[in-house]
Formats: sequence, C-alpha cells, structure tokens
Amino acid sequence: MTVTTDFLNQLNPSQRRAVEHFCGPLLVVAGAGSGKTRALTYRIANLILNNRVDPENILAVTFTNKAAREMKERVERLFAEQEALARHGKPLQALSEYEQIQLRSYVYKTFIKHLWIGTFHALCSRILRFDIEKYQSEAGHRWTKTFSIFDESDAQSLVKSIVVSKMNLDDRAFNPRSVRFAISNAKNQGYDAAEYEQANQTFKGRTIAEVYRYYQAGLAENNALDFDDLIRLPVQLFRQNSQVLNYWHRRFRHILVDEYQDTNRTQYDLLRLLTTNGQAGRFDDWENRSVFVVGDADQSIYSFRAADFTILMGFQNDFGDGLPDDDTRTLVKLEENYRSTSNILDVANYLIENNTERIDKILRATRGEGETIACYRADDEVAEAEYVVGQIRSLEFDHPELSWGDCAILYRANAQSRALEEVLTRYSIPYRVVGGLRFYDRREIKDVLAYLRLVANPADSVSLKRVINTPRRGIGKTTIDNLEKAAQELGVPLWEIISDETSAKTLAGRSGKAVVGFAKMVQSWQDKVDSATASEIVQDVLADTSYLETLQARGTEDDLERGQNIQELYNAVLQFEEENSEDASLLAFLANASLNSDLEDSKNEGNEVSLMTLHASKGLEFPVVFLVGLEQGLFPSNRSLDDAAAIEEERRLCYVGLTRAQDRLFISHARLRRLYGSDRTPAMPSIFLGELPPDYIQTNIATALPERWTKTQRQAKLSQTRQSSDRPGTHADDWTVGEPVSHPAFGEGKVTHIFGAGNKICLAIHFPGLGKKIIDPKVSTLERV
Ligand code: ATP
Ligand code: MG
Repeated sequence: MTVTTDFLNQLNPSQRRAVEHFCGPLLVVAGAGSGKTRALTYRIANLILNNRVDPENILAVTFTNKAAREMKERVERLFAEQEALARHGKPLQALSEYEQIQLRSYVYKTFIKHLWIGTFHALCSRILRFDIEKYQSEAGHRWTKTFSIFDESDAQSLVKSIVVSKMNLDDRAFNPRSVRFAISNAKNQGYDAAEYEQANQTFKGRTIAEVYRYYQAGLAENNALDFDDLIRLPVQLFRQNSQVLNYWHRRFRHILVDEYQDTNRTQYDLLRLLTTNGQAGRFDDWENRSVFVVGDADQSIYSFRAADFTILMGFQNDFGDGLPDDDTRTLVKLEENYRSTSNILDVANYLIENNTERIDKILRATRGEGETIACYRADDEVAEAEYVVGQIRSLEFDHPELSWGDCAILYRANAQSRALEEVLTRYSIPYRVVGGLRFYDRREIKDVLAYLRLVANPADSVSLKRVINTPRRGIGKTTIDNLEKAAQELGVPLWEIISDETSAKTLAGRSGKAVVGFAKMVQSWQDKVDSATASEIVQDVLADTSYLETLQARGTEDDLERGQNIQELYNAVLQFEEENSEDASLLAFLANASLNSDLEDSKNEGNEVSLMTLHASKGLEFPVVFLVGLEQGLFPSNRSLDDAAAIEEERRLCYVGLTRAQDRLFISHARLRRLYGSDRTPAMPSIFLGELPPDYIQTNIATALPERWTKTQRQAKLSQTRQSSDRPGTHADDWTVGEPVSHPAFGEGKVTHIFGAGNKICLAIHFPGLGKKIIDPKVSTLERV
C-alpha cells in the first residue's frame, strides 16, 4: 500500500499532533464534540498506513459495542479511500460498485479483521477464551474456555439461591439485588471476599463476604463468569503468570482508550499491566509502544460502577516520565468544538461551570450561533410527550432536509420512555428505544440462549434449570430438586446426573422418561458442537424442542411476537456468521450475545427517532435533541439530592445531554408527573434549569427561569477566571502533598495529590466525611490552615 498522509488534512493541528505522535504515552483532554473520538480513529489508520504497525499489535477500547463497530467501519473507509487513490488514481466513490466491493473486502481481510477494537468486556472475554485454563483463583477455582457469561439476572438468581437455600438468610434483610451490587462493587475495586470482610467488620459485612465466597464457588461450578470477573480475571491471571502477561504485552504494542474518564480501578490495572509488563517504575521500551487515551472529566458519569476520573487526571503522573517538559510531550488539548452551534455550546459550558470539582477548559465554537434553545413547561408527562411530538412534526414541515433519524429524545430514567412511546405511536412516528429492555433479556430469547449455553457448556446448571421444563415436558419441581440434591451430594454438575441414564431411571415413571428424553436431545446437539455452525445448532434446538410450535399453538399476540423475536435471533446468528467468518463458532456467538447490549444496535439503523437514557447517549450526536424531564428528584435524581458530589455527577450527565445536540435543542419539564405507577405528583423544575443562561433560552412561560447572569456578565466572569491564574495559590509550587487546607464550601481537608504542572494544576483534597474531591485553585479559593 502506498504511503500517504492525505487523510490527515481532515484534522486540525492539535488533532494532527495527537494522531501523528508515534510512541510513548499521550493524553488527549478536551470538551465534548472536539474530535477526540475522531482523533483516536484516525490514529489507528495512521499507525498502520504511515507507521507500518501490524494491525495485530493494536488494541483499541471503546465504550460500547456500537462505537466499536462504527470505529471499524470508519477505519475501513479511510483505508479504502487511500487504496482507491493508490490503485486506481480515483476517489472511492468514482469506482464501479464491483470495484468498491472488491477493494473493501481486500481491506477488511488484510487489515481490519486483525484489529482488536471493542469494549473492555469484549476484549477481555477474547483474552480469556485463549488463556482462562491457565488461571486458578486463590480459593482454587478453575474455569475452562467454554465458560458461560452470566448477565445480571443470572448473577442475581445465583445470589438468591445462596441467600435463601444455602445460607437460610432472610431475603428481605439480604436482598439478592443489593447483595449482588455489594459484591460487584467490591470486585470493581479489586477486593476479593477476604479483603471485603476485612474492610466491613460488621455482621452484615461478614455475611455478605460469606455470600461472596459461595457465589464465586457457584460461578466456578457453573463454569461461568459475571461481567465484573471478565475484567478482574485477566488482571489476576496476568499477575499470576508472567508468561501469559508477556505474550499479551508483546502483542499489544499500541493501546488506545476512548472515554478514559469512565475507567475504573480494575480496568486501569489491566491497562497498566499490559503496557508495563508488570514492571514497576518508568518504562524503557517507549520506542516501540504507545498508550493513547482520550477523555473529558466533565463527562464522567459512571461513578456508580466505580469509575474514577482521578485516573484520567493522574495519567501523566502514572505513564509520563515526569521530566519538566512532560506536559508538552504527553498532553494534547483540543479546543475547537465541531459539533454544536455556539448557542448550544455556550449553554452547556455555562451549566458545567457550576461544578466545583473541575478543571476549567477552553472550548471554542467553530459553527455559527444557530437557533435559540427552547424550554417548555408542560402540564404533565403526556403533555410533555405531545410537545416533543408536535415539535418533531413541525420540523418535518419546516425543515424537509431533516428526517426522523436526525432526532433523539434523551431522558434520565428508563421508565420515562413509556409516555413518549405512546404518543409517538399515536402519531405514527417510527422510533426505537436504544438499550431499553435489552433484546437478549426477553424471556423467549433467554430460553433459547440457555439451550445454546447448555450445549456449549454442560456445567452451566443455571441454564439447565431454566430449560429443563421449557416448553413443558412434564418434569416437575420435585424431580428437579431431587436431581439437584443428588448432584450436590456427589459434588458434580447437575448435567452429569441428568445425562447418566441409570440415575435418571431411578426417577418415577413419567418424569424419569421425560428427563432421559431431554438429556438425549441435548446430547445429540452437544455431539455436533465442534462440526456444526452456530446457526445449524439453533435450527436443531428450535426444531427438536418444538419451541416455536408451542408459541404458535398458544397463538396470543404476545406469543406471536415472541416467535418473531426468535426469528430475529436466528437472523442475528446468521449475520454474526457472515461478519465473523474467522470464528463463527457457537461459543463466539454466545460471548457476543452476552456482551452486545441490544440487538437493534447491530441492525442497520432506519429512519426512526432514537429514544435513550442520557447514559446511553455518551459519545453520540444528533442534529435535533430533546432533553425531557428536567425536574427535581428525576433529574437530578432523588438519590443525589442531598449529596454535593452526586449532584455534580448529575450535572455532568446534563452536560453530556446538552452537548449531544448539533443544531437544535429542546428542553422540557412537567408540573405533574406519574412515574413508576404512582399517582400524579407535583414536580419542581430542576435546579439545572435555573443554571442555564436565560437570554439563550425561549420559554413558554415568562417566569419559568430564575433571573441569572446575562451574556455580557457571563463573559466578564469567564475572563475573570482566566485572569485569576496569576493569583497566589494557583501554582504547583504553592502546595505540597499532605498539607492541610480549607475550602469555602467543604471545610478543612488535606492535599493528597497535585495534578499537572506550572500554573495549570488541580489538587485532589481529602475532606473528612466527604471523601476525595478535585479542586481547581483558579476556581475556588483555598487557604492554608
Ligand atoms: P464526545 O466528547 O461527545 O465524545 P468527541 O470529542 O469524541 O465528542 P467527535 O465525536 O470525535 O468528538 O467529533 C464531533 C464531531 O465533530 C463529529 O461529527 C466529527 O466528525 C466532527 N469533527 C471532529 N474533528 C473535526 C475536524 N477537524 N474538522 C471537521 N469536523 C470535525
Ligand atoms: Mg467521543
């Protein structure tokens, strides 16, 4: 392939610096819509095209599977464009369809297929498919490479069986959901059961630690992992086995991470191990490798999953070499926003400035002023939905260039989609709920997947129990309980008892026969698993179980829809086989199904309005955005109301929402709202509404927004903040780690970390009772105590 740098012209100078930086660590920090993801994508292309890096040596981490797919497509396109110029001397679009297909298939096979791009979970599950058999946990548990991935409901049902059956605890005091949450949290902070117990020396803490132990044993017995273990196990394996780590360390010479502000401790440990090969201290191998991360601390919205944005701020300390010019060599800032009109951008920046825990950033608009932002107060949630739909319909009329697919409706809580869906349906506007009830969470889909998991991993007793009598085949609960007891006494998986004819025959007549028949059927699929494709096995499962016929025979509307969903699952298997010709095994498909948040994502998006939570909207952009439900207790959420740090996180979430909009932004709230089946209750406007600059906003109620600063006052305030960088206390040399300080709002605390250098610094300060906070001394005045 000819060397070319043409595509780099589509970047600004700072992006270009980031993209062309070859080896060593690099942090890109920048506000929303400044082209961070674009820089990361172009960097992959540049590494291969201009630096001649083998695609196998690249590992890119994205936040969703959808983002991973888009990134691959984008890189593929950049390649195909270059290749078209090199081979034919013409741009890609000027080639015949046949030539384009040929070219793209060449690019895919030679380059794209070998790239590892995906979420932490997907990438780790691939690593484990190679190496999990070399791992042994502290408690002696082992897994094989046919492991199942338990989703939240599988994990909770395992916790529940431990709480209720094994430990005879009251499941009101030890609610399986909250126990599972505690275990998950412990795992994400890197604690095993013993360490958790150490840190929680109460009756409750000790009991949860005990459940945690049984839970890990239960996972191992089922040859299953939960989502947290998918990342934790590779970290432990790498620490245990230097040969395994060495292999992956050599393999991934260039690591790229998008949305780095939402990394948690375990994910950080994984990156650190991979880049340093487990060596402490600075690295000497920077001529051959790079670690490139991009992020925006203002968009950190996953602290409930133990994400920690101080990891982003500590990047240069952790990966840089600490030399005085570190800042210029390991940091790139992007300061132009290409996404939104300046009105939208100003409003978003204005809001986020209310956070105290942040570093001030520059983000200049490159587009015109655009329309003002509309803010609507509705009577109730239905009227709010009607307002949104009304706006969509009038856009259709006034702006024929816009289509439904250009509109997104963003909300804080999943339950808000119902009212919106009803009104959209009433007006026949097509829509899709992104990441709502996940396709793979539907009952019928879980049933079929459980069959498939049992075929791939006979030790998976959770799946076995799910399908042994679905559809009904006369195997009662007592029979299953007896079989399970026998399995427990012998210490073998349930499947071994069931598939052993002599033991099954000891069961009473009808039940026994049914068990033997079931086992034979599953066995016949298992015999084929190495030779048949995933879709052939799905066909067999559907035919032999009469699952579809049973649904058809019942024939209600629900049943018919379930049947269609199963068809859709079959299509997904076919599509998967087409896209993953190198590994289209049943195992690979199951891993993909567990990790792909919803099937709709993988289908081509049609011309539909997108509905999604604010969390799901991260990284995306839409010409028209509706941000609904800005009410106290809903957004910011109830749980955050009396917690200053949680309110700041909600505000970041609002910033994420506002910055998704390219051209038009509509904000709304209701005076009365019915949610979660409650009666209609009065709702106060969100504090965030009061924090938006009134002269950017058109409302339907004159007094809807409290008076705040005007545009000129705001600009004056901004320049004041900028000037304050010369104040005493804003320079790195003004502070030392460990010294006590006082903050006007949080009181006294101790400096635990100084991020940055010169007069561009931030301090991490521990305030007793409040925890660690990040403070920019230019924004808040700190005093020595
Ligand atoms: P977020 O923080 O929301 O993830 P981001 O920083 O990753 O945003 P991108 O999604 O990469 O931003 O870019 C935002 C938009 O700006 C995209 O439509 C992208 O194509 C466009 N863009 C980025 N850089 C440039 C550029 N140099 N010239 C023109 N358009 C650009
Ligand atoms: Mg991005």
